[in-house]
Order: sequence, then structure tokens, then C-alpha cells
Amino acid sequence: MTHLLANLTTDEVAALDPATAVIVQPIGAIEQHGPHLPIVTDALVAERMTSLAIEGLAPGCNIWQLPTLSYGKSTEHLGRAGTVALSATTLMAVCLDLGRSLAASGFKKLVFVNGHGGQPGLLDVVARDIRVETGLEVFPMMPGRLGLPEGVEPVDPDYGIHGGQIETSIVWALEPSLVKMHLAVRDGDAAGSIFAGYAHLTLEGAVPTAWVTDDLSATGVLGDPTAATLELGQAIVAHQVAALREVLLEIQTFAFPPRA
Ligand SMILES: [Zn+2]
Repeated sequence: MTHLLANLTTDEVAALDPATAVIVQPIGAIEQHGPHLPIVTDALVAERMTSLAIEGLAPGCNIWQLPTLSYGKSTEHLGRAGTVALSATTLMAVCLDLGRSLAASGFKKLVFVNGHGGQPGLLDVVARDIRVETGLEVFPMMPGRLGLPEGVEPVDPDYGIHGGQIETSIVWALEPSLVKMHLAVRDGDAAGSIFAGYAHLTLEGAVPTAWVTDDLSATGVLGDPTAATLELGQAIVAHQVAALREVLLEIQTFAFPPRA
């Protein structure tokens, strides 16, 4: 029993019930993640979280995973080896084309499961464009925003946003062979201290500062990956996958009220 839409035939896709079908597009990034994590990190997280979530649902749930869009908008990491970025306009055009294609196939609901913190704003914008142009209902979301297990307090909460304790633990749980813990270093402390004298300016808050990695980190890490553990990663993955499963089921039943 597959949950991978691309493994179906065109006739099988055509036979799906469009009233309940939910199409899930994992979106990641191919970008530097410091000396200890692979450049595929964000694509891996988006893809695996999506698979784990859908695999835990009842067979025949009519929720389908598309092939991962591995590339994302990684402008903040450009110039660091291995970063392969799409421009904002390219990524928006690709997402719009995906939405048009899915609408033309008769689908009604599309979810972007995003693994990269550099593009939620873009996905919010293009989601609304797809909705207005095609009528498709679009739900852009990030598993990383679904919270942490009760009692988990990151050691690097202010600046641990890239290759830090949380993300490193998650990759460790998903694909241990790709994590080089002996190379993990804490970096990016400036991101926690640089705004100390400011009332409003922050890294990612109410008045963000359009930072690039070179402003904040020599190694490319923002956070403290030395505090990562396998057990923490397993707990976070279980927590976020369970929440993602709930999200997908909510999306499946959600409907705006009919217009007057
Ligand atoms: Zn990442």
C-alpha cells in the first residue's frame, strides 16, 4: 500500500476521490548546515516527517505524498560550498506551477510541508496566489513550528535556528549515518547577543533584520549542536510527526463556510 502519488498510474490518480484527497508536497533546501550535518538536511527532514506522518494513518486515508522538492530559497547561505539555491521568483514560479497542475488534475487541497526556515514567508505568499488563481486550498506549514515535547528546553533558544541542538538531534534520529558529531561546534552566539541593546530589532521576531549567515557565524552553525542527542531527536520526531498527522487530518475535513 503506497502513499506516494507518483507510484500510481494516471487512471489510479483520476479515480481518487477529490472531495477527501489531500496532496502533500515536501519542500526542503540543499544548503550548508555547518561541519557536522549534510547539505540535504532540510529536504531530508521535510520528506521523512511527511512519510512518517502519512504511514501512521489508516490505509486508504486518501492523503498522498509528492516527490520532494529538494531545492529551496537559501539565499542566506550562498557562497558556502554545497549550497544550491533557487531564487525567490523561481521557487514561487515552481510552486505556482505545481498548484496549477494539481488543480488541473482535479485536486482540491495542497499542503506544503516545509523543512527550511528561510522560506515560510515565500510559501505563505504563493499559497494565497495559488488559492486565488486556481481555487485550490493551500496549507503551508513547517513541522518545526509544531512545538517540542513537554519539558524539552533547548540550550540555544535565542539563536539555535540552523544546525543547532534541535535540528542536529532530529537528523540524528532520522538518519544517524549522516551526522558527524565529532565535528559539531557551537557557533552563532552573536545572534543571541547582538540585539541586546535594542527594544524592537531581532533575528526573526517582530522586526527581523534580513540576516545572512556570514553576519553571525564563522562555521555556518547557528546554535549548539554539541548538546544534541539521539534520544532528544527521537522524542522531537515522534512529537512533531504525531502533530503533523493531526494537521493532515484537520486539513482533510476543513472547509470554509459556503459564500453567501
Ligand atoms: Zn536546516
